Amino acid sequence: MAGRDAAPRRGTGAAAASCGARGSQLNDTGIPVLHTTINPWRTVAAQMDDSALVVWLADLKIIETDADGDDQISPNTRAVASLMREAAERELALRRRARARKPGPTGGLPREHHQRLREEIARRLDLVALIREGVPDLRRSGASWRGRCPLHDDREPSLVVWPERGRWRCFGCGVGGDAVAWLLATRRELDYRAAVTYAALRAGLPAAAVVAWPSRKGGRP
Ligand SMILES: [Zn+2]
Repeated sequence: MAGRDAAPRRGTGAAAASCGARGSQLNDTGIPVLHTTINPWRTVAAQMDDSALVVWLADLKIIETDADGDDQISPNTRAVASLMREAAERELALRRRARARKPGPTGGLPREHHQRLREEIARRLDLVALIREGVPDLRRSGASWRGRCPLHDDREPSLVVWPERGRWRCFGCGVGGDAVAWLLATRRELDYRAAVTYAALRAGLPAAAVVAWPSRKGGRP
């Protein structure tokens, strides 16, 4: 467990930020150098990609809750872990908000067309069937479905799917979205365009819908 006990290593978050390489301030076990205020951790978090942040959060939860029963973890380390977690959670929340505000990628399609395509996919695609392929324990719970999230080390069913809305969200790691977002999060081999195309075809839309949409008065594809 010594690896989890983050000790001061080289550099500060700010110094690491200036050198530009992502994760350069992490030691070889992936544990960032120790800071006792939150701002350096926010700098560290800002340099990590989403999946690294999610993994980091999962580790931190274990430290904070002492879930593996390791009483070697000092209150001090736990306090720092708490700062790290706050920084990681804030960073993920910031990115989610930024993504929600910023017009997302459209795969080269005109924005209005793309918007309608995503809506049409959400309306037609069987999201429960899609997600169940990666979450075999997905079970109905009222109007929603719940299962263990494959995007983080989930010990309880944190993943919720709302088939009516065509949306899903994990209340453990915070990631969520529509069918295309699910494909992007879980199938690394798919780029954005491929994910939209796959989702459209799976939703029963003609391949042409991914390339062009009939004129506004032209009705459904
Ligand atoms: Zn999750």
